[in-house]
Amino acid sequence: MQRIEIGHFEVYLLEDARFRLDGGAMFGVVPRVVWEEKAPPDEQNRIPLTIRPMLVRAGERWVLIESGMDDKPGEKHRRIYAIEGAGALFGQLAELGLGPEDVDLVVNTHLHFDHAGLNTISRGGQVVPLFTKARYIAQKQELYDATHTHERNRASYLPENVEPVLEAGLFEEVEGEVELLPGLRLLPLPGHTLGQQGVVLESEGETLVYTADLMPTLAHAPLPYIMAYDLYPVTTLEVRKRFYSEWHERGALLATPHDPVHPLGRLVRGGRGWKAEPVPLPGT
Ligand SMILES: [Zn+2]
Repeated sequence: MQRIEIGHFEVYLLEDARFRLDGGAMFGVVPRVVWEEKAPPDEQNRIPLTIRPMLVRAGERWVLIESGMDDKPGEKHRRIYAIEGAGALFGQLAELGLGPEDVDLVVNTHLHFDHAGLNTISRGGQVVPLFTKARYIAQKQELYDATHTHERNRASYLPENVEPVLEAGLFEEVEGEVELLPGLRLLPLPGHTLGQQGVVLESEGETLVYTADLMPTLAHAPLPYIMAYDLYPVTTLEVRKRFYSEWHERGALLATPHDPVHPLGRLVRGGRGWKAEPVPLPGT
């Protein structure tokens, strides 16, 4: 866990589980001979990834962006994705003297199991919301899609991460761009899913963007490096084109949800288009 400041916001860059996904699926149409240098695969063609939720202290409030990954789906799921250390989030909250009941807002960028897995936990044979005092924030479109799945997205949306929160009345649907708190903005970033949102922090001239799966790792910054998991890959491309120049001009720090090594990066214009470079953290 690392702590930085963005103007008046305190930002904690957390690390939850490590896991692995198929390298070919992670880089879409980019051939392995090109991506394998940046992301060396294991003998099963999987590349290592980290779950990186972000905790923001905004005045008196604690805002958790992404809830991490959980063990609920069981052993087969754990083996397929080589999940290790699910729930490491708890220890990091505890280091700050926080329990789940201290979190005021949970922002779900989208409701896939690797982003919203700890929305709920299994307790005494029942699956219940983990952040009992929080409002969970998701786009209306995302909640609709997560509760009306089809064959192409069903493996990613697990009802156990969504339904208990709905039943407890803890979800708050938002539509479009919303200023959730002063300087903390939810920004629709469709493509990976239609209802995906990122988070923009702006304070005292500084900007940080939590990219969600628009840019799952820094290696995915180049425009055509789009995951095969994206339901609307051309929309991902359009959304990147819409925002990259602005983020670059503002010198925005980018926090990605899955980079295996670097919690933060920044866009740079390479000779052949955009790329992202890691930003060293204070004290590293
Ligand atoms: Zn993801």
